[in-house]
Amino acid sequence: MDADVVVVGAGPVGMTLAAELALAGVRAIVVEALPERSKLSRAGGVHPRTAEMLDQRGLLGPLLATGDYQEYDGAHLAGLTISYTSWNSREPGRFIPQTQVEAFLERQLAGRVPIRRGHRLVGVEQTADGVVATVSDGERESTLRALYLVGADGAHSSVRKLLGIDFPGRAGTDTAVVGDVRVTGPRAGDIYHEPPGQVVRSEDGRWAVRFPLGDGLQRLVIGGTGAQVSRTEPVTADEVRDGLAAVYGGDVELVDLPYVTRIADAARQVRDYRLGRVFLAGDAAHVHLPLGGQGMNVGIQDAFNLGWKLAAAVLGRVPDGLLDTYSSERHPVAARVIRNTRAQSVLTDWAGTGNPDLPELRSFVADLFALPDATHFIGGMISGLDVHYDMPDQPEHPLLGYRLPNPDLKTADGTVRPYELLRSGGGLLIDFSGDSVHLSAEVPYVRAYGDLGADVLLVRPDGHVCATTTDGLPAGLSRWFGTATGADWRISAT
Ligand SMILES: Cc1cc2nc3c(=O)[nH]c(=O)nc-3n(C[C@H](O)[C@H](O)[C@H](O)COP(=O)(O)OP(=O)(O)OC[C@H]3O[C@@H](n4cnc5c(N)ncnc54)[C@H](O)[C@@H]3O)c2cc1C
Repeated sequence: MDADVVVVGAGPVGMTLAAELALAGVRAIVVEALPERSKLSRAGGVHPRTAEMLDQRGLLGPLLATGDYQEYDGAHLAGLTISYTSWNSREPGRFIPQTQVEAFLERQLAGRVPIRRGHRLVGVEQTADGVVATVSDGERESTLRALYLVGADGAHSSVRKLLGIDFPGRAGTDTAVVGDVRVTGPRAGDIYHEPPGQVVRSEDGRWAVRFPLGDGLQRLVIGGTGAQVSRTEPVTADEVRDGLAAVYGGDVELVDLPYVTRIADAARQVRDYRLGRVFLAGDAAHVHLPLGGQGMNVGIQDAFNLGWKLAAAVLGRVPDGLLDTYSSERHPVAARVIRNTRAQSVLTDWAGTGNPDLPELRSFVADLFALPDATHFIGGMISGLDVHYDMPDQPEHPLLGYRLPNPDLKTADGTVRPYELLRSGGGLLIDFSGDSVHLSAEVPYVRAYGDLGADVLLVRPDGHVCATTTDGLPAGLSRWFGTATGADWRISAT
């Protein structure tokens, strides 16, 4: 074997997954078609749950140290800002360009996981006990043998196509222009002061929305022309100028356009994220409009779900059925993203239908979304804070299946936060009788906090609570960690 796992694609998803595998001591190789990292930023924001997951691995602080990133404390949905503060996360959303996330992840992998740049996957074959990947550097082909292969190779995934995996859904028809701009002129300040995510409309049905990317650069999405322009047709600067003039008036002058592209409203998802020893993650498994800024976030969260499970399989600690839970848990999450982005495309009038009743629909929906329960629901969905997984054979508890919150814990050695205890990539058991143990590392004595009505909290490496009672502990341990008693990992409390 050349590696335990071949990861195809060094985008944010592939690199997050590779970092998770390396943390667990699994040998991964990343193959990436591009000779160097893209300088073009697609995603512009890291949502709270993604930030929490990075924090669970000690990566959030170092990522934030790479720039001065503007925060947001609400989800953006069809031009409405919807608070997610009721989910009690310590993390706000932050406008962090995808390029910064990728550069950061690549530095994390340096010296730990080889990234073979300029190597395109051109063949994949499954055998009884492994996979054989054929890669081309443009001149010659070579093979890589591994136990598993993960296709994190984006919307046009070669892995998906080479294995003939169906990608059902809706083809893209209407396109909008996305441009990173610097502007000047009398009305330029209006654009910069427009709240991020706020949709501005012209009388002829066009719309624009902007998000700050730092350093004076603004991500502008302009749509609603009603013209069905092919996604691959190049965007001209005049087209952007025309959109700016239509929406903001003629007093805005375009001075810089480092990135411009067209996005279409395709919405597709594979039925199963697993085919034998091959897994799909991120855009390779699901595509949709970037409304609400969810694609990179959901993909990174896919990687945090898959990484520890794949590592357990490679290390021979895999309980029956664990690898199948990757698809059964993550498929519904992206399915509802697709649902909400399709609904948003109607609300924003993505296609520029000019339906005169849409303003009424928007204001009606805005009233509904202002209701506390609706705000909680939508804010949880877009931020990823509400993700819930089934935990069979466990008595019900409000935290069961949800993310562990991150309050201060009092320990014999001072205050810690539970996320700090997940940094080694193992699970965590908080014992409310006064003891605390960690599944994989040395953890100080942790006292109970709050009154959660739980005897224990057993937490998976991805931060999801999988048992809340002593009685449920053996089933939780055996299902997620492959050990019935925990006797072999229990580190006694001091
Ligand atoms: C304009 C725009 C704005 C967006 N805004 C947001 C946002 O605000 N928030 C958000 O969360 N998401 C946003 N997204 C979506 C986000 O960019 C994607 O969801 C994200 O990039 C998916 O990451 P990935 O790693 O799955 O795939 P990618 O980033 O596409 O990475 C896949 C990698 O695989 C490589 N590859 C492909 N084929 C092969 C092969 N055969 N062999 C080897 N390597 C290969 C590619 O070169 C690429 O580097 C936006 C997208 C667009 C287009």
